[in-house]
Amino acid sequence: MYKNIFIAIGFALVGCQGNSQKKEIVQETTEKKETKFSVVKTEAEWQKELTPEEFYVLRKAATENPFTSELLENKKEGTYVCAACGTELFKSNTKFKSGTGWPSFYEEIEGNVAYDVDYKIGYKRTEEHCATCGGHLGHVFEDGPEPTGLRHCINGVALDFVPAE
Ligand SMILES: [Zn+2]
Repeated sequence: MYKNIFIAIGFALVGCQGNSQKKEIVQETTEKKETKFSVVKTEAEWQKELTPEEFYVLRKAATENPFTSELLENKKEGTYVCAACGTELFKSNTKFKSGTGWPSFYEEIEGNVAYDVDYKIGYKRTEEHCATCGGHLGHVFEDGPEPTGLRHCINGVALDFVPAE
């Protein structure tokens, strides 16, 4: 009887150790991803805070239909901020008419936009997202105007516009 209990405890300890080691490894990898961003929320929280369109673009990396953003023709002076967390992303003086149907900028506000690579549509593209919350913004291409030669092709739904005072 005692022997059986002892064996059972012995197994339980071994079992726990195995599990905790596994957990540690999982935690390490998720932690690495999460600590990249200073604003971290659960999917349910984002879903609550964002409109369905904002949620699918910012959190699911969807692309809005071209020529649908009300910011596309916006020529006012101001700053474009992340629709999810308010981080300043693009200045109005770097916006240009690309003809693609998506708000386009030749330069980001340095340090506030982060980059990744995706192969979603079969070839390599540079994905860009908010450096604060990780929200997907769009892609950057190397066919933009001077002085950078870059075209930040951004989903208007991922942006809010803050007019200059
Ligand atoms: Zn953000």
